[in-house]
Amino acid sequence: MSGITLRDIRKSYPNGPEILHGVSMDIKPGEFIVIVGPSGCGKSTLLRLIAGLERCEQGDIEIGGKRANNLAPQNRDIAMIFQNYALYPHMTVRENIAFGLELRGMPKAERNARAESVAKTLQLDPYLDRKPGALSGGQRQRVAMGRAMARNTSIFLMDEPLSNLDNSLRVTMRTEIKELHRQLGATIVYVTHDQTEALSLADRIAVMKDGDLLQFDTPEAIYDRPNNRFVAGFLGVPPMNFLPVAQLPGWQGRQDLMVGLRPEAMSVHLDQPREAALPVRLVLSEMTGSDLILHCDSAAGRITLTSGRKDRPRDTSNFWVSYDLDQAVFFDNHSGTRVDLASAIGPSKRCAEFRNGSSRQ
Ligand code: ADP
Repeated sequence: MSGITLRDIRKSYPNGPEILHGVSMDIKPGEFIVIVGPSGCGKSTLLRLIAGLERCEQGDIEIGGKRANNLAPQNRDIAMIFQNYALYPHMTVRENIAFGLELRGMPKAERNARAESVAKTLQLDPYLDRKPGALSGGQRQRVAMGRAMARNTSIFLMDEPLSNLDNSLRVTMRTEIKELHRQLGATIVYVTHDQTEALSLADRIAVMKDGDLLQFDTPEAIYDRPNNRFVAGFLGVPPMNFLPVAQLPGWQGRQDLMVGLRPEAMSVHLDQPREAALPVRLVLSEMTGSDLILHCDSAAGRITLTSGRKDRPRDTSNFWVSYDLDQAVFFDNHSGTRVDLASAIGPSKRCAEFRNGSSRQ
């Protein structure tokens, strides 16, 4: 099994601006890494550099501990799975899965045996003699994965592999890919713009924006301790609320900070509670099934939170929202960087001292 090391990777396309501005990443053997970020931030370019489909002229790529900058794609111990599956329409499932093996000169009987064993793992064995046109989207996706698996490589690169599937199939395939990763133990680098896929699949998530790697950490760390406001807002549905700290009761001194509160860090009170709370007016409530998403207006701006259906405030009603400062994250107003208040003043003193503005640095 192989890991991948990227060191200060920069990339420009001919006559174009720089697309990647020095990306470094250490991917351990067997890790499931998801690269996530808005469209155009350079995710596919990074994946294509790892695959060897683009030349890496600045920076270093190591695969399995060896410098790979000058290795041809077929010598990189890598299989790539694309968004459009890249299946051959005139070939059967068996032939599609075995295709890469033929190129490598494996005898036909051995190729077919390998294809059949892979098809079994992916529950494609009933369809071995069908052509891709007679398969569902999810089955085609599995054939594409089967072709990658048949090659017995230890690294899989996947570029938005689920984006052509409808929503329910995407959820099913997500579970299958996760399960497959467990079975194979392979290293997977998976590109998506979908933050739900990132959170649910990854051992570690790499969040990119405009050609920079903003944070590379576990889903829990990225969700609970985002490095900056962009990362905080990009992951999580409904997204984190950002409020000027100075608008919170008792915090008027802190003009320099924003507070980030996830919807689940806030609670609804139909009557004014004893603890500090913001008076709000309900603008819209959305039913998600088990919960409600409440969109409210407050003096500090728009707030979105979730609540159980029993706590449901009446439409257009006024109520109060309290917040759990232990779950809050703070950001510098100008740079957007997270500010670690706890380490600056100690968690127990946090509320009292900051309310008085006495610990201002
Ligand atoms: P993402 O995968 O995050 O959507 P890409 O890596 O595909 O981003 O693209 C990053 C930037 O590089 C975009 O501005 C895109 O237009 C540009 N780009 C991608 N491929 C090429 C190419 N072959 N030639 C020139 N520019 C490209």
